Amino acid sequence: MAEYRHAESAVIHGGQTTDPATGAVNVPIYQTSTFQQKGLGLEPKWEYARTGNPTRAALERLIAELEEGEAGFAFASGMAAITAVLSLFQTGDRVLISKNVYGGTYRVLDQVFQQFGLKYAMADTEDLSVLRGQITEDVKAILVESPANPLMTVTDLAGVAGIAKSQGVLTIVDNTFMTPYLQKPLVLGADIVLHSGTKYLGGHSDVVAGLVAVKDAALAKRLAFIQNATGGVLGPQDSFLIIRGIKTLAVRMDRHVENAEKVAAFLQNHSAVASVFYPGLPTAQGYEINRRQGKNGGAMISFELDDGHDYRTFFSSLKLIALAESLGGVESLVCHPATMTHASIPAQIRRKVGITDNLIRLSTGIEHIDDLLSDLDQAIRASER
Ligand SMILES: *Cc1c(COP(=O)(O)O)cnc(C)c1O
Repeated sequence: MAEYRHAESAVIHGGQTTDPATGAVNVPIYQTSTFQQKGLGLEPKWEYARTGNPTRAALERLIAELEEGEAGFAFASGMAAITAVLSLFQTGDRVLISKNVYGGTYRVLDQVFQQFGLKYAMADTEDLSVLRGQITEDVKAILVESPANPLMTVTDLAGVAGIAKSQGVLTIVDNTFMTPYLQKPLVLGADIVLHSGTKYLGGHSDVVAGLVAVKDAALAKRLAFIQNATGGVLGPQDSFLIIRGIKTLAVRMDRHVENAEKVAAFLQNHSAVASVFYPGLPTAQGYEINRRQGKNGGAMISFELDDGHDYRTFFSSLKLIALAESLGGVESLVCHPATMTHASIPAQIRRKVGITDNLIRLSTGIEHIDDLLSDLDQAIRASER
C-alpha cells in the first residue's frame, strides 16, 4: 500500500494500481470473458467478467477510495449507472429530482421507470424548507446535482442529506460536474454518489462510462447484485481508459478551473453579455454554499447574450471552441441547452426552470486562456445584430 495523504497522489496511487501477477505499474487490460476455475465448489475470486473483471475492479476500488465510499461500481455509461441506482426502488416508490437535473435522468424516469410504476417529482432542492414539504410517504430517494445543469444551480448537499436521513430517505448525488477532486458528496452525508465517467474522469472525450460509489455495506451488496443481474458493466478497455484519465484529474481540474474563473470574469465584464451562471463568481446564487461544500466553482459556465446579439451567429462564429454535446474533456466545448442537452425536457418545463433559447453552455477546457478569450470575444462581436 502506497503512502500518501493528498488527493493529487490518490488519483495516481489509489485503488489497486500495480498488477499483482507481474508488477506492471499499470493494471493490464484483462480482455477475457471468463476465468479457469481450479475445481468444483472452490468459490473462485474471478469467474465471469460480467460479475467481475480485474481491470474493472481496479477502477471500482479507485472510485470508492476517491469518493471515500465502501464500494465502487463501473458501468457502460452514466445512464447505465443511473439506471442501476434507480433499480434499487420498486413500484409505488417515488424519487425526488432537482428541477435542473440532467435531461437523460429526467427522461429515463419519465419514459422508462414510470412504466414500471416508479414515480418521480421535481423538487426545489435549492430551497430546503420547500424540499422538506415535498417528502411525502412514498418518497424513497432524492437525486440531486450541484452545481446543476445548465444554470449551475447550487444545492446544499449536507442540508438535503440531513433532511433525507431524518425521513429515512436516500440521498443520491450526481457528482459529474465536480468530480471527487472538487467535492465529496458521501463525506457531506449522501448515501450514493454517481458519475458520468465520460466527462471529467475520463477527461479526453474518448470514452463513455458511468461510476457509482456507496457508503453503506448493505447498499453496496444490493448494488453489486443489480450490476451483475442487469449487466450494464464497463468493459476492460474502457475501464483502463478511465483509470488512465483519473491519473491526471488533479492537474486537469486545476487548469480547467483556473481558465473557467478567468472566462467567467471576462463574460461578466463584457457589455454584450446579459447574464453569467457560474458558482465560482462571488455574485452567483449559491456561491457561499458551493464554497462550503466544494473546493471551487468547477469549470462549467452558462451565459446569455443580450438582445443586441444573436446566439445562432455566436455559435457559427466560434473558430477554436467546438459546438458539441458533452463536457469535461481537455478541449473547450459549447452547447445550446434548449435544442441539445435539454431538448428531451418539454419546452414548457424548460421555460419554467429558466432554460431560455438564449442560454449558451461552455465546458471550459485546458487550452491557453488567451486563445479561449479571443475566440469568445471575436464570436460575440460577430454575433451583433
Ligand atoms: C453526461 C451526463 C450524464 C449521463 O452520462 P452518459 O455517460 O452520457 O450516459 C449524467 N449526468 C450528468 C450530470 C451528465 O453530464
